[in-house]
Amino acid sequence: MHLDLDGYTDICRVHGWTAQTRRDALNQSGMYNALEFFSKHDIRATMFAIAQDVRSAAKAENLRDAIRAGHEIGSHSITHRKLTGLNSAEKRKEIADSKSMLEQALGVRVRGFRAPEFAIDAEALRLLESEGYDFDSSLFPNRKTPARPHIEAPAARCWWTATGCRCTSQAQCLTAARRWWCLRQ
Ligand SMILES: [Zn+2]
Repeated sequence: MHLDLDGYTDICRVHGWTAQTRRDALNQSGMYNALEFFSKHDIRATMFAIAQDVRSAAKAENLRDAIRAGHEIGSHSITHRKLTGLNSAEKRKEIADSKSMLEQALGVRVRGFRAPEFAIDAEALRLLESEGYDFDSSLFPNRKTPARPHIEAPAARCWWTATGCRCTSQAQCLTAARRWWCLRQ
């Protein structure tokens, strides 16, 4: 199970809407209900957090609650900007600094990354590897974006398992796992 912890203002920005309030009841109620649901059904999830949220006392406390309940925290960038529209330095900062911000504020290791709007490219994947991430979870196959053919594989291993998968081709891995991008060619 996995979910992105986008808040009200993040969703408004992505869609070009004007946020009507600075309060984030959507994030609060969403986290409360998600944690309760996971607890009730004994589910451990990976939650991709926007790193600048650790500056909010309420959101940081929600993340600590999630960690105490056994959930994994992944990075969903610092500012939730679309990575494919950023230059190399900004992209590196979103990837590297979001990891260190979350780790320092929460005291856990951040292993995984999900790009805002699932917009990932080969440069970002190389940065994820060089900055110490174990896996990327930014592929979202559907009828509109079946396989992101513009992405070149920077390494011969699977980001999903971190140690390599048993698939013999990328197509097979996508068929088997659906939403995880295998880097084996
Ligand atoms: Zn998001």
